[in-house]
Amino acid sequence: MEKTVHIAVVPGVGYSHLVPILHFSKQLVQHHPDFHVTCFIPTLGSLSSASKSILETLPSNINYTFLPPLNPNDLPQGSSVIESIQLTILHSLPYLNQALNSLSLRAPLVALVVDPLAVKALVFAKELNMLSYIYSPVSATTLSLSFYLPKLDEETLCEFKDLPKPIKLPGCVPLHGRDLSTHLQDRSSQDYKHFLQIVKLYGIADGILVNSFLEMERGPIKALNEGNPSVYPVGPIIQTITSYVDAKGLECLSWLDKQQSCSVLYVSFGSGGTLSQEQIVELALGLELSNHKFLWVVRAPSSSVNAAYLSAQNDVDPLQFLPSGFLERNKEKGFVIPSWAPQIQILSHRSIGGFLTHCGWNSILESVVHGVPIITWPLFAEQKMNAVLLSEGMKVGLRPKVNENDIVERVEVAKVIKCLMEGEEGENLRKKMKELKEAASNAVKEDGSSTKTISQLALKWKKLV
Ligand code: UDP
Repeated sequence: MEKTVHIAVVPGVGYSHLVPILHFSKQLVQHHPDFHVTCFIPTLGSLSSASKSILETLPSNINYTFLPPLNPNDLPQGSSVIESIQLTILHSLPYLNQALNSLSLRAPLVALVVDPLAVKALVFAKELNMLSYIYSPVSATTLSLSFYLPKLDEETLCEFKDLPKPIKLPGCVPLHGRDLSTHLQDRSSQDYKHFLQIVKLYGIADGILVNSFLEMERGPIKALNEGNPSVYPVGPIIQTITSYVDAKGLECLSWLDKQQSCSVLYVSFGSGGTLSQEQIVELALGLELSNHKFLWVVRAPSSSVNAAYLSAQNDVDPLQFLPSGFLERNKEKGFVIPSWAPQIQILSHRSIGGFLTHCGWNSILESVVHGVPIITWPLFAEQKMNAVLLSEGMKVGLRPKVNENDIVERVEVAKVIKCLMEGEEGENLRKKMKELKEAASNAVKEDGSSTKTISQLALKWKKLV
């Protein structure tokens, strides 16, 4: 009988840093049933319902343990999302060390795979003689920027947004400094210093797994693999269905069943993106003006763009912030759902013809896998870089213009929607997206590039048993 190969994984904090590493684990054990994965989960407060429902779908050869949580009340007042995540990881490290030590006495572990923000945990792998990996749930382009950042930091005197020319990362689409990740926009901030410190540690990993695929990001993947550590493109790894579906979610799927093929624009800002009150009004009136059908996941307004990322806004009804009479006027044309929708079931529905997204990497991969062209509406983290990649690199997305106050006005909203849903440009994007969808499907077939990469890793790990 084959010996079991044990590995451990450590996700990041928040839904979109938990789900991808769990799905990678699922792929691994599905293709290689002799593997067993133990997942150690750092937590801040309690887990969201959506995260909990993912854990319920795990097969028996993946088990999980919650590391003792950090109480959100113990965070310094006004902590940013990155800071909150970082402090949660720091709090979890000693418990993780203990847990790994005690597990490795029972079942020798061959590899540790961690979220990028948990990179400090890799020293424990070294101590226990395990191989160490980062699981990067972002694009290869974003990963390239992480690698390049220490050099960019040394060479640049001004803020990146003031650089006169776009930055040319090896193999990547040129990026304007103002489009780099939000935490890189103020170089004197704690978030920036923290991130710089983190990416300098990437070199200690034996390898980096990235949720992308060769056919989508050939340039950056090739360039990354000219350096060290090795980069393994294993994507697209996405959920097959959204496991958390409430009554309203079911209702929106029935509404989609009644719509014509490719006629509905899906509008969503990820697991925690939020808009200002002014922007909610402009978006609502723009949707109305476009005269196209829409399905919109609405959240309460906030002056911060990632207000709901680590804490759900359960206590307020977001629909009260829509313009007066909007719901009544659009009851035939639109479906509005508060806070959370079954995104995978929506994107795979025949009625969906476009996706207005905040450009989180998971949402992008989900759109690619289901062949849905995109309107890019980046809010935070590396989303502006993703928007550039989609609109200028892969040409599967349209980017609306923002005014001098960073608002996309209603006329612009209506213009891009019409362009995507009915224009010739939209048709071209649809065609390109179809090609990308096919490439994505090929990458994860039995003999596909990403399946082979996972097998190559699995073989390497098996040899250590
Ligand atoms: N998601 C969902 N329903 C929603 C909003 C988001 O199922 O109403 C899921 C979506 O399918 C994706 C994840 O949440 O898997 C969001 O991840 P992404 O990387 O796109 O954005 P983030 O949440 O990190 O901003």
